[in-house]
Amino acid sequence: MGSLFGGYGLYLLFSLPALILGLWAQAKVQGAFKKYSQVRTYTGLNGAEVARRMLDSNGLNHVKVEQTQGFLSDHYDPRSKVLRLSPSVYQSPSLASAGIAAHEAGHALQDAESYPALRLRSTMVPSVQIGSWLGPIIFMIGFFLQGTVGTTVAWFGVGLFALTALFAIITLPVEFDATRRAKTWLATSGIIYNQESEGVARVLDAAAWTYVAGAIQALSTLLYYVFLLSGRSRRD
Ligand SMILES: [Zn+2]
Repeated sequence: MGSLFGGYGLYLLFSLPALILGLWAQAKVQGAFKKYSQVRTYTGLNGAEVARRMLDSNGLNHVKVEQTQGFLSDHYDPRSKVLRLSPSVYQSPSLASAGIAAHEAGHALQDAESYPALRLRSTMVPSVQIGSWLGPIIFMIGFFLQGTVGTTVAWFGVGLFALTALFAIITLPVEFDATRRAKTWLATSGIIYNQESEGVARVLDAAAWTYVAGAIQALSTLLYYVFLLSGRSRRD
């Protein structure tokens, strides 16, 4: 029992690098967004118009573009086929808005093509929603129980939580691909000038780092559980 609490320093050792990476990525996104939300695109199209054009030019006229609340809360909802953009992205004709709007439209394109990683990710959502909170609880219960029963229960918790880590890893190709589609379309459609593509890339690449940090965070937590439990299994 003591080793779980005594392992707090150990937990920091496992989680600190990912935590620092996560904070760094967040700062990078906010910095890039702040800078490039003040740089106007030469076409003067706002995020909503950029998304609309990208969707229409790919035959996705049925996908709606709506404004939603919040800061950087932009997302594509595959169930209702709606692309929701935050007010600053929806309304402003900036490089940051164009990049984010095109990235979200990229997710709609993936959905229309049944892009495998996106489909797998969507299928996993319900089990991940349960596993992400139930996994750690079952792990704790198993850890406090004695003997092999406890160990088995704890491993079951690790297995549930592993879904969260797997989900975070599958998110990576989905996000990278949406960004690739956004950059390609913005450049070839003439919405973005050559000289403007760097600003778009800065914003989207910074955002990609937050997903990398998320995946490393989930993996390092998983490794921590495995490390604690394999030490205990040897003592059983
Ligand atoms: Zn995305």
